[in-house]
Amino acid sequence: MSVKRIYNFNAGPAALPLPVLEEIQASLLDYGGSGMSVTEISHRSKWFDDIINDAIARTKRLMHLADDHRVLFLQGGASLQFCMVPMNFLTDGQTADYVDTGTWSMKAVKEAQILKKNVRVAASSADKNYTYIPKEIPFDPEAAYVHITSNNTIKGTQWQQFPDTGSVPLIADMSSDMMSRPFDVAPFGLIYAGAQKNIGPAGVCMVIIREDLLASVPENLPAMLSYTTYTAKNSMYNTPPCFAVYTVQLVLKWLEETIGGLTKMAAINREKADRLYHYLDSSDFYRPTAMEDSRSMMNVTFRLAGEDLEKRFVEEALANDLGGLKGHRSVGGCRASIYNATPLEAVDALIDFMKLFEAKNG
Ligand SMILES: *Cc1c(COP(=O)(O)O)cnc(C)c1O
Repeated sequence: MSVKRIYNFNAGPAALPLPVLEEIQASLLDYGGSGMSVTEISHRSKWFDDIINDAIARTKRLMHLADDHRVLFLQGGASLQFCMVPMNFLTDGQTADYVDTGTWSMKAVKEAQILKKNVRVAASSADKNYTYIPKEIPFDPEAAYVHITSNNTIKGTQWQQFPDTGSVPLIADMSSDMMSRPFDVAPFGLIYAGAQKNIGPAGVCMVIIREDLLASVPENLPAMLSYTTYTAKNSMYNTPPCFAVYTVQLVLKWLEETIGGLTKMAAINREKADRLYHYLDSSDFYRPTAMEDSRSMMNVTFRLAGEDLEKRFVEEALANDLGGLKGHRSVGGCRASIYNATPLEAVDALIDFMKLFEAKNG
């Protein structure tokens, strides 16, 4: 049976590596000789223990995590982390610093405010329509933590270098660039990522937490909203999203064994982004929206001369097997999400199509 697969530039849920999908396909009827589907095995079985522990071990190796970093799998998406972070780490009387680099950052701020927590927006790029990442931010050395969004999926900006917050723990929403590049994890108290952008399917959120932060978690939180519940039970206090965790495990295996780790992955991602931005910069027909020093390697946002033309661009691209190029509904325009699983050939095919579209309509 031949299966048609297009080049997928969706922002999330997004492309997954083909070998991962093929392995899932086989495991859907018989997981590893168990005679059961991977979706039918118990989360209390040896099979699932091996899956979740392998996903954790691979995460630790890929990101060079120290022993005091714990890897957890939660439901509720990145959006649940917006409230769990202040609930667990921001006691009354304390303040947390947030950097506002777009929609997702502000959603995190708002959830903390709903809880009547003291949050301070230490810097914002709202003044220039979120086209850049703020620099030289005056952080409060007494803050409980500093919260940033490492990659702004909607606006197409990304922190090139993480800010120095001294001894204040950094907390980052890495939903759209998790595992896209290596970085020093030491300053981070907590990292979270909805899997559906870069590391798996929808339904699971990966959380990496440094153990010292657990000391300040209040006792009186509902079990499902306390990080200690997940650290105490290896993310299996209740039924975890088994199938999503399994898919993440396979993606991490692909990253480690087929790609060869995050340094190699980052080099491929850099090449994809450079090719696309280089073409956008060379053309007067397409206009990249993010400032050059803040451009995302993952989500390349651009505009054409008008909304009608943009609509036609997205439609004709899809007719040419290039899917998912519409910008986020809140900002319009176009966006090519070029996550880990999007191959270089997809970017080349997109550029070829863009040249033809420009020649016809420019
Ligand atoms: C998609 C996204 C979210 C929301 O994730 P959910 O898993 O849908 O809650 C949060 N932050 C960033 C940076 C995102 O890209």
